[in-house]
Amino acid sequence: MKNYKPIEEIMYPPAPHMVGNGFTVNNFFPGGYTQNIQRMSPFFLLDYNAKQTLAPSKIPRGVGVHPHRGLETVTLAVHGKIAHHDSKGNSGIIGPGDVQWMTAGAGVLHKEYQEAHFNRLGGDFQMVQLWVNLPAKHKMTPAKYQAIENNTMGKYYIDNKQSVVEIIAGEYNGIRGPADTFTPIQLYVARLKKGAKASFIFPEIYPTGCLILEGDLQINKEIDAPVNRFILFENKGTDVDIEAKEDSICLLMSGEAINEPIVPYGPFLMNTKEEIRQAYQDYEKGKFGELED
Ligand code: MN
Repeated sequence: MKNYKPIEEIMYPPAPHMVGNGFTVNNFFPGGYTQNIQRMSPFFLLDYNAKQTLAPSKIPRGVGVHPHRGLETVTLAVHGKIAHHDSKGNSGIIGPGDVQWMTAGAGVLHKEYQEAHFNRLGGDFQMVQLWVNLPAKHKMTPAKYQAIENNTMGKYYIDNKQSVVEIIAGEYNGIRGPADTFTPIQLYVARLKKGAKASFIFPEIYPTGCLILEGDLQINKEIDAPVNRFILFENKGTDVDIEAKEDSICLLMSGEAINEPIVPYGPFLMNTKEEIRQAYQDYEKGKFGELED
């Protein structure tokens, strides 16, 4: 007998807003959960640029230099390419299927633009950015950067190798993902051909959700989960089954909640207002480094 995680909510994408001039994002949370901004802790924010076809552009599209402190940004490209540069001298291209895991920690400046060649040509564009909270004892860890290219992810093949669960963080059926995390996190991308099935186990108390990126799914044998919806599970039960009604892609996330007060403000995510004030002071003093726009 399976002990399915009951579904708390099937969320439609909230009305989109622009981040810079390059990302048209639906903020599923924390905006969608005004009652409890920590509902998905350790995940604080989920911005989703649903699939769109972009025209060619001569103007760079993206978001210019800005700081972060106290969190990690996890960026997944589904379609299109993003170029990233930060004040630690790191840079890279996030292409389709790749993930970039940036630990802002004590502070970093970065900029996120559509990759120049992609921007000039245009094309399909679809992105996810998650913000992962850091526990108080790790908020001021030195900034770092993990480029997790698709071919470095753990891969668990099913359905005669036609379908795959890609493991970014945590473990799935004995296969570990490459991401170093500060708290226990399971983050997977399931790419299933029509008719394929996959089963997952997440700890009962871990906040757990699933973002449907492509194709319609059925969850726990009876719930229809259409493309572009975020499925929020109750913190009950342990099992999640998915079945692809069409060729599909989904992002599954689960993690141990960080039970500490938080004060989010703009690009910072700290534990107290005083720490937010300090972050702005340090930023203005240039302690986050330098980066040209
Ligand atoms: Mn950013």
